[in-house]
Amino acid sequence: MTAVPTTGASPMVRARNVRKRFGHLEVLKGIDLDVAAGEVVVVLGPSGSGKSTFLRCVNHLETIDGGSIHVDGELIGFRANGGRVRHLRKREITRQRREIGMVFQQFNLFPHLTVLQNVMEAPTGVRREPRGPARERALELLAKVGLEDKAESYPRQLSGGQQQRVAIARALAMRPKLMLFDEPTSALDPELVGEVLATMKGLAEEGLTMVVVTHEIGFAREVADRVVFMDGGVVVESGSPASVLDDPSNPRTRAFLSRVL
Ligand code: ADP
Ligand code: MG
Repeated sequence: MTAVPTTGASPMVRARNVRKRFGHLEVLKGIDLDVAAGEVVVVLGPSGSGKSTFLRCVNHLETIDGGSIHVDGELIGFRANGGRVRHLRKREITRQRREIGMVFQQFNLFPHLTVLQNVMEAPTGVRREPRGPARERALELLAKVGLEDKAESYPRQLSGGQQQRVAIARALAMRPKLMLFDEPTSALDPELVGEVLATMKGLAEEGLTMVVVTHEIGFAREVADRVVFMDGGVVVESGSPASVLDDPSNPRTRAFLSRVL
């Protein structure tokens, strides 16, 4: 229901030699990553390895300094093109961003809006969908994340896990063809992590294309089609959950896993 079919045979995400620097600090040093339509990729890696920066580049929150990122066959943002930087038009960027949902560690709900209003905000405000159908769909999405009874509550009345599930419903309301999750359970009390992961697992089972940065190894093992390990601004290792988690070939992956497992 949430999955939007891809328009072509190209992967949903194709990152090639993506480079990003902040001043003198080179944070992404040539990221190569493909994500197929319907695939769930879990990205692991130590703090500071560039995971968030990479997701932010895919979602136009950062511009890249080199290489290219395509989403569903379309060039995203800026790229170094034979030494020159190609800029996309603002309208083009806005359109592309609507098709990518992102969920952050901090839920970032609008505190003055009810749960239902939070979920309806983008479809009615940005997309100018009529309120009736938007409301109906928002209620469906709240049911999907198990919060239909909280529609009229305000964010402050909810637990962190419930707020994060609202944030997921809000992202889905724009019918994204790609969902990016940046440590969605890292700010939660341990007993609330499971309900958010269960919601994400449900989306994965529906065929949504997802890139998930998380330290939840159990989720990676159970839900990911592929696990990618990043360190120092590059993809160090990529493969099936079993191969990366149980039999990592790279010593840096082994060292990281021995710390988190
Ligand atoms: P991760 O998500 O893997 O922990 P990040 O992508 O957040 O890593 O950060 C990678 C590196 O880039 C870190 O050294 C971080 O301090 C730096 N960094 C991230 N964003 C900025 C920014 N806006 N300005 C300067 N440095 C940044
Ligand atoms: Mg991060």
